[in-house]
Amino acid sequence: SAQQTPGDQLPRYVRMNTLKTSVEDAVDYLKRDGFSYLGQALKLDNLTLKNKDFVMDLHLPELLVFSPKTEFHDHFLYKAGHIILQDKASCLPAYLLDPPPGSHVIDACAAPGNKTSHLAAIMKNRGRLFAFDLDGKRLATMSTLLLRAGVTCHQLANQDFLKVDTNGPQYKDVEYILLDPSCSGSGMVCLRDDSAAHPEEEKARLASLASFQLKCLNHSLRFPRLKRLVYSTCSIHSQENEEVIAACLQQNPNFRYLLCKCTSFLDSCQNNVPFHMLSQCHPHSICLFFSALFTFYLHFSFNLCVFD
Ligand code: SAM
Repeated sequence: SAQQTPGDQLPRYVRMNTLKTSVEDAVDYLKRDGFSYLGQALKLDNLTLKNKDFVMDLHLPELLVFSPKTEFHDHFLYKAGHIILQDKASCLPAYLLDPPPGSHVIDACAAPGNKTSHLAAIMKNRGRLFAFDLDGKRLATMSTLLLRAGVTCHQLANQDFLKVDTNGPQYKDVEYILLDPSCSGSGMVCLRDDSAAHPEEEKARLASLASFQLKCLNHSLRFPRLKRLVYSTCSIHSQENEEVIAACLQQNPNFRYLLCKCTSFLDSCQNNVPFHMLSQCHPHSICLFFSALFTFYLHFSFNLCVFD
């Protein structure tokens, strides 16, 4: 039999696309389709699911959790754009950015667009959502995905984000930026490979990614009306996370920041720490969440920074 990987044991997360359905309707549909709904998860243990059981996530009500490897690619709800196959860690950036309907938002490195469609859902398709990506092919995939998801408030541009004119008149009301730049992907369970085959090459690659990430972050801070920014990666390397943030703060000393470091997601999850701490974020503060253990429970490790 095929070898088991850690990813095979992780729960399957599915985001309800509230542009096309409600959580209630989706749950009803799934129940009629043979799944059994166990209500909202109250602790981590509740995410250990068998067969066709499913629960609502502990933190994000639009997220349903299924047993590992539950297959949805051929499911009606997926094909119709009612559900998005998106991991929990990947849902946190848009959730934390939380742009209100009507606001002007930038998704700086957007393709293939799962976070863009999540932002549009939070904005209820009202306002303007500027999405950039350098890769035309990925952008084409994204266009299909957004169409299926019923997103209409977006403007896609095949453009280098670093060359976007931060003083352009079309961006004068941009208050929210989601920055999810290219990274090593070292936090993705399916890609994890601890054997550093070419340590020198790996070092150079990380340095080059970190330099790009810092440039993107600095560029984002130049938008004149920016109010909140979320920086996220799916890397577990501090070089792409804390060190990028530290360098950025050094270069932009006018930002005060609050550092929240969660070393154990298990603890923090049980005590609701990450979400509790968020509510304590003060204006002009930065929250940095970091957790290596997070990787184990969620598909991605995530490192997140909120400038607010
Ligand atoms: N946010 C996306 C999502 O949730 O579906 C994933 C983004 S992926 C981590 C990073 C993206 O950045 C890639 O699609 C890549 O093509 C794009 N990218 C790389 N350099 C860029 C640049 N200079 N300007 C804009 N996009 C860039």
